Amino acid sequence: MDKEIRIALAGNPNSGKTTLFNALTGTQQYVGNWPGVTVEKKEGKVRGQKNVGVTDLPGIYSLSPYTLEEVVARNYLIDEHPDVILNIVDATNLERNLYLTTQLAELGIPMVVALNMMDIVRKNGDKINSKELARALGCTVVEISALKNTGIDETVSACVKAAGGKMTPQHSFSGPVDHAIAHIEEAALDQIPEEEKRWYAVKLFERDEKVLEKLALPESVRSHIEQDIRAAEKELDDDAESIITNERYVYIAGLMKGCCQKKNKTRMTTSDKIDRIVTNRWLALPIFGVVMFLVYWIAMGPFGSFLTDWTNDTLGAEWLVEGSRSLLEGWGVADWLVGLISDGIINGVGAVLGFVPQMLVLFLMLCILEDCGYMARIAFIMDRIFRRFGLSGKSFIPMLVGTGCGVPGVMASRTIENERDRRMTVMTTCFIPCGAKMPIIGLIAGALFGGSAWVSTSAYFIGVAAIIISGIMLKKTKMFAGDPAPFVMELPAYHVPSVKNVLRGTWERGWSFIKRAGTVILLSSVIIWFLSSFGTVNGKFGMVDNLAEDEQLWTEEYQQKVADRMGITYSEDEALNEVTPMDDSILADIGSTVDFIFEPLGFGRWKTTVATVTGLVAKEEVVSTFGVLYGKDTDSDDWDDEGSIIWANVKEDFNNMSGGHGKLAAFAFMIFNLLCAPCFAAMGAIKREMNNGKWTAFAIAYMCLFAYAIALITYQIGLLFVGGTQVIGLIAAFALLACIVYMLFRPYKESNKLTVR
Ligand code: GDP
Ligand code: MG
Repeated sequence: MDKEIRIALAGNPNSGKTTLFNALTGTQQYVGNWPGVTVEKKEGKVRGQKNVGVTDLPGIYSLSPYTLEEVVARNYLIDEHPDVILNIVDATNLERNLYLTTQLAELGIPMVVALNMMDIVRKNGDKINSKELARALGCTVVEISALKNTGIDETVSACVKAAGGKMTPQHSFSGPVDHAIAHIEEAALDQIPEEEKRWYAVKLFERDEKVLEKLALPESVRSHIEQDIRAAEKELDDDAESIITNERYVYIAGLMKGCCQKKNKTRMTTSDKIDRIVTNRWLALPIFGVVMFLVYWIAMGPFGSFLTDWTNDTLGAEWLVEGSRSLLEGWGVADWLVGLISDGIINGVGAVLGFVPQMLVLFLMLCILEDCGYMARIAFIMDRIFRRFGLSGKSFIPMLVGTGCGVPGVMASRTIENERDRRMTVMTTCFIPCGAKMPIIGLIAGALFGGSAWVSTSAYFIGVAAIIISGIMLKKTKMFAGDPAPFVMELPAYHVPSVKNVLRGTWERGWSFIKRAGTVILLSSVIIWFLSSFGTVNGKFGMVDNLAEDEQLWTEEYQQKVADRMGITYSEDEALNEVTPMDDSILADIGSTVDFIFEPLGFGRWKTTVATVTGLVAKEEVVSTFGVLYGKDTDSDDWDDEGSIIWANVKEDFNNMSGGHGKLAAFAFMIFNLLCAPCFAAMGAIKREMNNGKWTAFAIAYMCLFAYAIALITYQIGLLFVGGTQVIGLIAAFALLACIVYMLFRPYKESNKLTVR
């Protein structure tokens, strides 16, 4: 056997394709518990078989091109013509899965059916007669468990054997349909190879637009077959597409009778019992709240902060900074280089790396929730609730994927067939705190709130709320009106999370983060350091720290001038003096020209402004920028209790800029940074998915405005409670709040006629 054999892995979402793909190839694809994770096809070689390749196609329910994933899968099967289709079937949901099987059988490509999840079927005591099924379908049927790695070798040899053979579908339709199909084959398909005719004919019968387009039939032929279709429709009194669907299900029902025995239909499995509670109408949301609180409490609360402190102490942001500084100074290295290395690189990168252990804990728990099957339920719970507002639970799958990284989150929107809902989902997915936003949350919670888990949990739920509120508001505009996409999804049975999957998922997410710290973050820390270290002090350009040592330049009057320009206080009393040489840096000049924008949100200072802007490069960049800008040891000697110099300085500065309401300002800062435009990578993903410049701009502008409004409302109304009300700001806050409430409660717009595919 020298010829290369290509196996295409096709099946419903959640049937275990990716798990099987990994078992076959030994590679480590990401296994997700919801559709949309395998969006592009993935390729690999079967372990120990040089000549056998496998392609993992996106999960699909049918070969009708309703969703982008179906288009990807179907085009691959038709155009690339693989040697074998390995149809993976979730044997615990046999009836539904066989729907796709009947369609795949018509393609004329040799096929092997793998009944997956046989471990569960056996545990439930159900029986599937796979010999009978094989006979009825006209192809080999193997029983496997991709998770437990059983039946994999048989599957490979069955595929190799089937390749090069023939596949003839065994099922037929009712008389009138078969008649019409035979006519269509004859009239329109003489160019098509014999074994593929049937599939094309069925599709023509269904008036599949893509196929009609592809075949480009002359008008006379089209009207001829149209007559055949009409005749069948008349006789069966239904439209062609429904006729085919119904007849497939009738055929499958017959198959099921002959091949499948459920032990006891009414018996509930453990998984069902758990679901009774977890997806209970009243308990579902509270349980979800508690679960997420626990996750954030463990990752970001006392335990998490302990980890971060521990890293900071041993890895030693302080120790490293001071150590490297004295070492370098001892070697007689130039001043600026010492500054660059200890204040720039070590502070910047270290501030981010300090969060790695905490982040790994968070990812670990999210991966466990995902792998055991809980996260998949959340989409269902959400669907049930938000269908009432015209939103679809499908929009929440991208959100769940987005807790790792916004980029795959945005891409997961491809499961949504309705273009408007899809756009809306692309616009709102990035509101969810992704892994890279975690350091921002950790920094604010740690520096100002003593590591409170409430702050971090609130960050998650603010993200969820932002998605829901935006969803409802957008849905009520003309642009997005329309009924939500139907939501069907197989819920995989709960199972003990596989250690391998969980560790792999955790590591994958953590590693990409560490990698960025060594590249993008490193580079921008250097840039931030340069820009914040050089500048013009009293008319003289140079390193601001050195220039400020010259008392002729750094005079009291001059400092007073800087203070006025920056809107901060200068005082002879060291403790009250906010002016530092850095306020004369190039970066301060740049930042202070636009920082007024954030004044109403409580953080209108150049450092916070610059940090926010650098967050566009990568969200954790906010923290590394803080590391560089706040990492210098001031004379404050209380940093020991505050975790680190950075934390102490950040706290002090937030208090200064907001007239003592540092917590409120910092919380507003966190909200703004969580909700505003995502990083460039995610913006790129949005652009790809929108495939339209205007929509991309609209999406990003919407996110920024929404973030601004929510942060402003939070800060200004918060001030009302802690004292220090700003009249204009408060009026603006109430006006914005009123707008949002109005948008939420106004009636739905009549939708324009939806563009149906
Ligand atoms: P895909 O969407 O088709 O790629 O499905 P995945 O490979 O992502 O698997 C979906 C879920 O089913 C995951 O939670 C898997 O761990 C689980 N799974 C896959 N195969 C089996 C199996 O044979 N037995 C059991 N019990 N679970 C499985
Ligand atoms: Mg998959």
